[in-house]
Amino acid sequence: MKIQNLIHHKISNAIKKFQMFSRQEKILVALSGGKDSISLAHSLKNLNYKIECVFIDLGIPGISAKSLKISQDFTKIFQIPLTIVSSKSIEAITMPEIAEKYPERSCAACGSIKRKILNDFALKNSFDVLTTGHHLEDEAVGLFANNLRWDFSYLKKSVPLLKEKEAFIKRAKPLCFCHEEEIREYSQSLNIEIMGDTCPYSDEGTRKKYRAVLDCIEKFFPRFTEEYYKNFLNHYEFLNQFEEKNLKLNPCEECGDLTVSKVCRVCLIKKGLWKR
Ligand code: SF4
Ligand code: ZN
Repeated sequence: MKIQNLIHHKISNAIKKFQMFSRQEKILVALSGGKDSISLAHSLKNLNYKIECVFIDLGIPGISAKSLKISQDFTKIFQIPLTIVSSKSIEAITMPEIAEKYPERSCAACGSIKRKILNDFALKNSFDVLTTGHHLEDEAVGLFANNLRWDFSYLKKSVPLLKEKEAFIKRAKPLCFCHEEEIREYSQSLNIEIMGDTCPYSDEGTRKKYRAVLDCIEKFFPRFTEEYYKNFLNHYEFLNQFEEKNLKLNPCEECGDLTVSKVCRVCLIKKGLWKR
């Protein structure tokens, strides 16, 4: 099967299996200019889904401007609407400022800020679902980490569809059945520039170690990662029997967003008060 057909087939399977969204729904793709989000946006457009992209400018020197240019060129060529939002203008913070406050946890802090910006943007602009370019290995690594803790509330989040809930938009990961190498091949088949530079603030050391463990097991048990993740997906509904922790949401004292604490994580991050 040609790589584009293969990826489209796998995405269609994921959308159908998890009832992620329909062709009538308004879909937002979080675009970074990297291979994963570009392949996702290109595939959904080709499968005739109603998509728009959003790019978050995090103010990363040497990276954000290049990623933005690649995203703009891509969306122009394939005629996909693109909106650019800046973390500085929306949340009054840039990635260098986040990294200065949290040098050891840059990615976690950055992830929280990005999730809030994307959620707010999607809700404000009446999207039905937010999609991200997480592939099978990303998801397997996340599951592996959550599995080690046996925290059922986190395990529940290891599925590729999180339904809308209170102030949170539905989130879907249509690349969940696609291997990273397949995505790479797909993105190369588009014959356009793809962002390949690594973020200087990345602290994904732990994730890389988990990925190395899974890759190592694969040497003894080929297809281990895929089977591990897919077997989980075949049985994840057993998690529904576990009650969510009794988390009551209240408005954040600083920004009004719903949170389980007095002040939401993003406000704590911005003040440098976030602890884990
Ligand atoms: Fe943010 Fe980490 Fe991604 Fe850099 S690598 S943009 S710090 S999540
Ligand atoms: Zn807040």
